[in-house]
This record gives sequence, structure tokens and C-alpha cells, in this order.
Amino acid sequence: MIALDGVVKQYQGQNGPFSALDNISVHIKESEKFGIIGESGSGKSTLLRMINALETPDNGTVTVDGEDVVNLSPKQLRQYRKKIGMIFQQFNLLNNKTVLENVTLPLKLHKFESALDVDEVLSFVGLSDKKNSYPGQLSGGQKQRVGIARALITNPKILLCDEPTSALDEKTTDEIVGVLRRAHEVYGMTIVVVTHELNVIKHLCDRTLVLEAGNIIDTIDIKPSSHVI
Ligand code: ADP
Ligand code: ADP
Repeated sequence: MIALDGVVKQYQGQNGPFSALDNISVHIKESEKFGIIGESGSGKSTLLRMINALETPDNGTVTVDGEDVVNLSPKQLRQYRKKIGMIFQQFNLLNNKTVLENVTLPLKLHKFESALDVDEVLSFVGLSDKKNSYPGQLSGGQKQRVGIARALITNPKILLCDEPTSALDEKTTDEIVGVLRRAHEVYGMTIVVVTHELNVIKHLCDRTLVLEAGNIIDTIDIKPSSHVI
């Protein structure tokens, strides 16, 4: 469903140009829970931004759902991004908006044919009683649940998670991994998660790329542990 072939991305570094992604090929299947792990600077975010069409490769192709996403017009790009939900390390919530307003924000910006019901989504993430709270009144884990609800409400085909638990403690990390697993069971989207935490990979991902300095040095292919966290 998501296919990168021979993707090269170069940036200007202190000692001249270097490859943040050095001839990367990866095929992610529909409904897969796919991980990308690596040290800081290994190219994980660059790879995620390729999928979101926020970066264009210097070489190679990026195809999603059979569509070349490298050469989209601005209108096609807006249409394409409607398929994608994003979750961020720092949650990216609007602090002067309530939980309800944060979660429904995507629906105010674009028309989504198959958007989910806000009460369903808030109940799913366990925040029905917090809909009139502000982010400042929530714990880190609750904030990330708001972030997940905001991503889910558009019913995305692809959920991109950029270090979703890196700002959270161990117990809260387990909870958020559990929410993402249940989201996948209920809504069945393709999940791509970037992380530097092996525990997240172990408990969430079907298959994982290990990146080092823009190269794939390994793929981990083990079923996530079946017990519910
Ligand atoms: P990761 O997400 O694994 O930390 P990144 O994909 O953010 O890695 O970055 C990979 C490498 O590319 C790093 O060396 C980073 O400094 C560099 N890099 C990322 N974005 C840019 C940019 N816009 N301009 C220059 N260098 C960049
Ligand atoms: P438990 O239920 O006892 O916590 P798990 O089912 O979580 O056990 O995992 C058993 C062992 O297999 C653990 O050491 C765990 O780290 C490892 N493991 C589980 N799932 C994965 C995976 N997807 N990739 C790598 N190791 C895994």
C-alpha cells in the first residue's frame, strides 16, 4: 500500500551534502502495523515525511494506494493528506481550545466523507468525561489520547505516529501502545510508527525497519506480543 523504491534524500551538512536516506526501498502492506526504529539522526522522520509528501526524494519513487505522491498538484496533495492521520511526540494540541474543539478541528478544516462521530471517538480513547477540559488540565497520557482521537475522527486509511510515546513515562507508554493496538483492531488502518523505543516496537509492530545513517541495517519481523497491556 505504501511503496518507497530507491529513495534518496540528500541534505546539506557541515561537510557538504550527505544522504539522510540512502537508497531506501520498503513496501508496507495495507493494515500492517509497521515500525521504523533507529538512533536520533538516522533518517526516521525524513522517511515519515516522505510518506506524508512533506519531502520530495532526490531520487526514487513514493507510491501510496497506487498513486505517485511525489508529483502531486496542491489540490491533489490536500486530497491525498485527507487519507492520513498524524500523531506527534509533543501532541500538538491547541491549548486555548477544549478537548472537543481539538478533536473536531480537522472536520472544521476539510470535508471528510466518512468521518467518525465525536462521541464515539472520545469514548474510544476514554475521554468522554473530559470533552470540555483544556489541554493544560490533562496529563501527558490524556493529551496523547486527545491527539489520537483527533487523528481517528477523520477515519484515516493511514496513521503516521512520530515518536508517539517519547514524552511519556513507561506506564503511560504502555497505555498509549494499548490504545493504538485497539484502534488498529477496531478501525483497521495501516499504522506507521517512528520511535527510538524498542518496547513500543515489541508490543505494537508486525514488522520493523532498523535505520542507521540513512540505511536499512535490519528488519525485525516478529508478531507483537498478544497480551493486552
Ligand atoms: P531522525 O528522525 O532519525 O532523528 P531525521 O530524519 O530527522 O532523523 O534526520 C536525518 C538527518 O538529516 C540528520 O542528520 C538531520 O540533521 C538531517 N536533516 C533532517 N532534516 C534536515 C533539513 N531540513 N536540512 C538539513 N538537514 C536535515
Ligand atoms: P509477557 O507477556 O511475559 O510480557 P511478551 O509476550 O510480551 O511476554 O513477550 C515475550 C518475549 O518476547 C519478551 O522478551 C518480549 O520482549 C519478546 N517479544 C514479544 N514480542 C516481540 C516482538 N514483536 N519483537 C521482538 N520481541 C518480542
